[in-house]
Amino acid sequence: MNKRDKASVFLRKILGISIILIFITSIGVMATNAKLTNIKIVLSSNYEMTVLTAKTKVSDILEENHITVLEDEVVTPNLSAEISDNKTIKITKASQVKQEVAEAEESVTTEEILQNYTSVKEKIIVEQVVIPYETITKEATGEGTKQNKIIQNGINGLKEITYKVRYQNDIEIERIEMSSKVIKEPVNKIVEVRTIQVTSRSGERIATTNPASTASTKLAKSVEGITPTVKNFNTSAYCSCSKCCGKSTGITASGAKAAAWYTIAAGKGYKLGTVIYIPAFKNQPNGGWFVVQDRGGAISNSKIDVYMASHSQALQFGRKTLECYVYEF
Ligand SMILES: [Zn+2]
Repeated sequence: MNKRDKASVFLRKILGISIILIFITSIGVMATNAKLTNIKIVLSSNYEMTVLTAKTKVSDILEENHITVLEDEVVTPNLSAEISDNKTIKITKASQVKQEVAEAEESVTTEEILQNYTSVKEKIIVEQVVIPYETITKEATGEGTKQNKIIQNGINGLKEITYKVRYQNDIEIERIEMSSKVIKEPVNKIVEVRTIQVTSRSGERIATTNPASTASTKLAKSVEGITPTVKNFNTSAYCSCSKCCGKSTGITASGAKAAAWYTIAAGKGYKLGTVIYIPAFKNQPNGGWFVVQDRGGAISNSKIDVYMASHSQALQFGRKTLECYVYEF
């Protein structure tokens, strides 16, 4: 080999190395020319990091940064999406996402929506309300015949209540009691109750209602506070003739002159002056109210005899079993 040949080989070596160097450099230049992007990655722990990458697919960027997405995590945008510069990849827990959605839904209530569409007005209203009196019973002491005696009449009280009332389209929708004050205290009704030992007569019971309290006759008024006993009497009628009385004076056992629709004869178990109300006669002039004024030989405690103006009238009445209310003093 001559010197020229040696020089040629050397030149070719340099050329070859140069080509290799140029090639290597160009690869570097190509690499630097590849588009690099800035990506912010927010992890589910809220840790934020910024990475520089040439990759554009979300899954590639995460892989490049050794970030593994767990099963219960959600990536936004999704893993297969392409991303451009200055974008954020957010990794959140799936449960966290649901919660955020739920909170967002709850924040607007039905009431708020309604309020936006209708006008709700509030007014303060003061009302007076009756406080009903109470009835208090107390056991009577000492002797007495009246079973129920009113010691004190009841009087209703009055209170003033202040309300906050809400109207929706002029219709009351809510009423809240703000305060109340008593203007007048009620007065309790006090009734003295006495347990009367009644000598037992057959078929007698205490009346649950007292006809005297609703009747308007003078006689009824006189026995208003007395609780009657109710009994069925074998009832007949009589007049002042000798057939009925054996005499015809018309003077009763009480000494008073017998009077139609007033006088009644009863057994010795009933004191003279006892008032008897007979509902069957309620449409008669006396309203059905009689006074025991007379006696009779055939009149036992289970019988009564009603005095009538004429013998024919008494005959016409005949004999009936009638319910009677007995008021004893
Ligand atoms: Zn007669």
